[in-house]
Formats: sequence, structure tokens, C-alpha cells
Amino acid sequence: MKFPHRSFLPAAVFAACAAFLGTACAAPDAGITALAAKEKPALLETLKELVSIESGSRDLDGLEKISDLIAAKFKALGGEVELIDPSAEAYRMEDTPEKMGRVVRATFKGTGKKKILLIAHMDTVYTVGMLNKQPFRVEGDKAYGLGIADDKQGIAVITHIVSMLQAMKFKEYGTLTVLINGDEEISSPGARALITRMGAEHDAVMSFEGAYVKEDKLSLATAGIASVTLHVAGKASHAGSAPELGVNALYELSHQILQMRDLSDPATGLKMNWTISKSGSNRNVIPASATAGADVRVLKVSDDDRIEQQVNERVKKQLIHEAKVELKFERRRPPLEATDASRAMARHAQQIYKDELGLPLGADDKAAGGGTDAAFAALKTKAPVIERFGLQGFGAHSADAEYVLVDSIEPRLYLGTRMVMDIARGKTANGN
Ligand SMILES: [Zn+2]
Repeated sequence: MKFPHRSFLPAAVFAACAAFLGTACAAPDAGITALAAKEKPALLETLKELVSIESGSRDLDGLEKISDLIAAKFKALGGEVELIDPSAEAYRMEDTPEKMGRVVRATFKGTGKKKILLIAHMDTVYTVGMLNKQPFRVEGDKAYGLGIADDKQGIAVITHIVSMLQAMKFKEYGTLTVLINGDEEISSPGARALITRMGAEHDAVMSFEGAYVKEDKLSLATAGIASVTLHVAGKASHAGSAPELGVNALYELSHQILQMRDLSDPATGLKMNWTISKSGSNRNVIPASATAGADVRVLKVSDDDRIEQQVNERVKKQLIHEAKVELKFERRRPPLEATDASRAMARHAQQIYKDELGLPLGADDKAAGGGTDAAFAALKTKAPVIERFGLQGFGAHSADAEYVLVDSIEPRLYLGTRMVMDIARGKTANGN
């Protein structure tokens, strides 16, 4: 497939940049600009390849195929590539499958000191067979396909940033690591531990989930998501003739829910709400079992610890001693908290966008939208971790309207490449 090829940096943009800002307006790096333009059609081809392989989080065959393709691409770029099965060290939640997709880790050794981690994920929320109705296609300034925004563009952008760095023979980083996992959409049960370890070993983490079409901005914070599940086991008995011989699981469940209804804390943004419950089968039978689930949102990592401890404490106080109560607290995703380090690195990215490309770029340090793997990367490090270095896109998790903006390809390739170079050179520390 052929794609239109034009420059994304008309002279007018640069002139406007100088005129509006009035201050020093750094010229775009002509070499990187030219490389980004050259990589654009190649990136669209990569996207077509990635989107043409179905890779739902539970589709192990599809995940194997796409991880082989990704591994081959980074090998061809000179990386030392490993395919890691994360199933053995999985954090098992109620919906965690037996096995999950392999992680592709590509390592590029440089001559410098800084270690930089680039992350994205290859799995999607879609199921096998949906591709037929949603093949890859470019219409105007939009490239459509299932999983194209979330998060196949992320893999494509990273691939072509590495390709640009290779073309420039840029090796001033110590280590450039690429990590692409296959279980993000089921809350990364397998890859989370590896992502956290790798995050802690690097000096900066750039995560490539898609950016928004409406307001282009990096994300420095995302909400954490957890769940509480209660299982109560009682004893069935005839509700009419021998209710006293039963143990009413529904009574115990109701008691538990009511005594855990006040754990939200507006001061820290902690929210806990019971949302699901189920019990009983027949009107005339004392229910022998009852279950309930609560949704938990946190903005601070410490709130995960606090709420887990609180529910485990409260659950001990039972209404009916004969009932058996089991509580499970699952950390679906930790929150990503904005730090001074991530703010400084975001300012640097904003400056590159504004000064060299004449484009606006926000940096949001309030948690919005869903959680991402960036939060796992940030869990055990003080190094900057920033989300949404990916293409601008729309329609993640929708079955028929997912697309990325073709015009965001060159700016994002330029930004990603410049960021890797500046981080490698130690230029991003104070945001200048
Ligand atoms: Zn995603």
C-alpha cells in the first residue's frame, strides 16, 4: 500500500512559532524531521501488519503470532530479543487465565550511562473473528483498525523510533529497553512484576498508550483500580418449616456490605462502592450462599494498602458466627502518581513540541481515564514515568470506530526520538 508523503513541518509553522512566542524558538532538527517523514509510510505498513493479526488477551495463538512478528522486527533493528512467558509469576485475579501472552523484551546497548525504557502492549479487548469486518484501512487523515489506537500504534511508534535512532547511529544511551506485553487488557496479571522490576532498573520510562484527538496531552497520573469480593457460605433449609436450621448467607452478606459502606475518603480520592450482589435460588429456601463485589478507585499507592487493611479488619466482625465469610482484595492496577521528576520530563517534552514543532502538548497531572501499565513501571522507582507518548487516536475498545490520526505520526516520531536523545544526554533532568 502507498501512502501520501508530505512534510509535517511547513515553513509557516516554524515562522508562526517564532512570531507567537517571541522568544528563542529552536529550529527543528532537519535530520530528524527528514527521518520522521521517511518513516511515516513504513510505520503505516507496520500498523497494517500488527492490526492484521488478531491478538485478544485470551487468544494465545494470536498473541504468539504477533509476538513473533514484534520480536523479528526488533531483532532486525539490532536488538537482543527475548520472548518471556510471564505466566509462572502471575498475580492471579478472578478473571486471570491459566496462561497469558509472552512479553517481548528487546535490549539495545549503547555507549552512555542512562537507561531508558519504552513500553507498549500487543493485546486487545477484541475476540477472534472481528477482524473480518474491521480490516486495516486509511481514510483521509485516519487509519482504522481493531486495536490500532490501543495499543498497536504504540508498538509501531516505538519500532520506528528505534529505526530512526539506528539510522542516525545514535548510541549515547547506556541501555535502551523495549518491553511489549500481551496481557494489559486483563490488568497485566503476568507482566506486572516484570514491568515493575524493569521500571526500577531504568532512569526514565516512556509509555506509548495513545494520546487523545481532542486534547493532545501526556499523562502523569492515572487512577488505581482494585476490587473487593465477598463470598458468604451459610446453610440451606426450608424457609417455611425449618428456617432455624439454616444459616442465612444473605443476612451475613448484608451486614458485611453495610459495615463496609463508609470507607471512601474524599480527602485522598479513595472511592469504594458496592456494585454487585447475588444470593439465593428459591423464595422458600434459606440462602446457603451469597456474593458481593465492590469497586475501588485510588489516586495514591498508599491508599491501596490502607483500604486493603481496613476491609480485612472489618470483615472479622460477623453478624452470624456460623456463616463462613471470605474476602478477596484484588489490585487490578495501582495508580500512577505525578512526581517532580515526571513533571520535569513532561516540561521538556512540551518544550520540544512547542519550540521545535510549533505544536501544543498538554501534561495532565490529575488522574483521568483508565489505568495503564505505566503505573506498574512507576511502583518501585523515583525515576520519571510518563504515559501517552503514542499517536493521537480515538475509539479504544469500541468495535467499529477505532482510529489513529495519520498526521500525528511524524510529530510523535520526532518527539520520541528527541526525548530518547535528550534523556540519554542527561538534558531532561530540570526540564530545560
Ligand atoms: Zn492500552
